[in-house]
Amino acid sequence: MLGSEERAVKVHHLVKAPENTPESIKFRESWDAKKPATVYKTPERLPDGSLCTAATVILRTKGCEWWWKSGCTFCGYFNDVRDDVTSDDLHAQWQEAKKRTNNFEDCSMVKVYTSGTFFEDKENPPDWQETVLRETYENGLHLVIEAQAHLCKEEKIKWVAERHPGCTVAIGLEAYDDAVLRFNCNKGFNTKQWHKAVDILRENGLRVKSYLLFKPPFMSEGDSIEQTSAWIRAVAPLSDEISINPMNIQKKTIVDRIHRARQYRPPWLWSLVKMIKNIHEDVQPVSAENASEGCRIIVHPTAAGMIRGSHNCGECDQDVAAAIERYSVSADIQEFDGIDCHCKGIWKNEIQLDRSLPVPLGIGRDRRISMDNVLRAP
Ligand code: SF4
Ligand SMILES: [Zn+2]
Repeated sequence: MLGSEERAVKVHHLVKAPENTPESIKFRESWDAKKPATVYKTPERLPDGSLCTAATVILRTKGCEWWWKSGCTFCGYFNDVRDDVTSDDLHAQWQEAKKRTNNFEDCSMVKVYTSGTFFEDKENPPDWQETVLRETYENGLHLVIEAQAHLCKEEKIKWVAERHPGCTVAIGLEAYDDAVLRFNCNKGFNTKQWHKAVDILRENGLRVKSYLLFKPPFMSEGDSIEQTSAWIRAVAPLSDEISINPMNIQKKTIVDRIHRARQYRPPWLWSLVKMIKNIHEDVQPVSAENASEGCRIIVHPTAAGMIRGSHNCGECDQDVAAAIERYSVSADIQEFDGIDCHCKGIWKNEIQLDRSLPVPLGIGRDRRISMDNVLRAP
């Protein structure tokens, strides 16, 4: 705090301190380390666009190295991890996932999510990585794994590609802007490192999926529309798929704190529609059926219509969210024809004010702090 004699405290320590109390650790470690966090099947598209069933396996791992050091401002994955997970535990979780899906029966794709970087040896034991890469490849399953950009090192990616050629590596780029990555997201890598990762993945014949975040903390609604549209334009030529994740509030994160203090509102669904309309002509996304020919844009508003997810007024949320989901499959801009609601005027007004007043954090209605503090906010 400025002007006091006390030592400065980093924001993430304030947020993470309660998470490291004995009660919190006890809660986290009450999970069975031999059982995965979640296993489920969903309809999906293979890289060539054909319809398939995908199994998603979310494992309880040691979690993301970056989170233990510092951590992204919006990431609540640590709620699913425990720091004493062994290779035996992970093998047991993998066996359990196979048991629950009857050995991935009817699936052509498996998404293996480890709440961090799949091929980071400090997070996941290499022998277990090898088991997953080899087994999925030998069984003809397309594999999707996640990674941080700076951990896509040449030697390791070569090692991955030898064991599972052609798999998809999804990188949580979040923003194509170094200042936003550093100050809004606290991401731990920059755009230069992302470019390098893309080159290495491509050289080794792996597919690139990029996650972008819509409305990081400390950014107004109006700015988010402009910025995310620009990021999509920049990232599309280098990605096989872009998945835009509108902010949803995950427990015990920095975003959760500012949301509870009514200083952050998850995005309007109208903003997502506007962003899609902005980029549609420039990027010309391919539909799910033609996915092999260009970049596919997926916008998936998690918890749409809920207070912790993207939402409008409550009356139109379902229709607007459904149109966004349909667009992610069809890439047809006409999905939004005829969709309207009385709340659109309120949203428009907010965007206009965000773009014309010098209020960096935005004028959004849910920022119910005093106008003095709004104007003083950095
Ligand atoms: S790098 Fe990924 S897993 Fe790690 S803290 Fe950030 S969002 Fe979470
Ligand atoms: Zn509405």
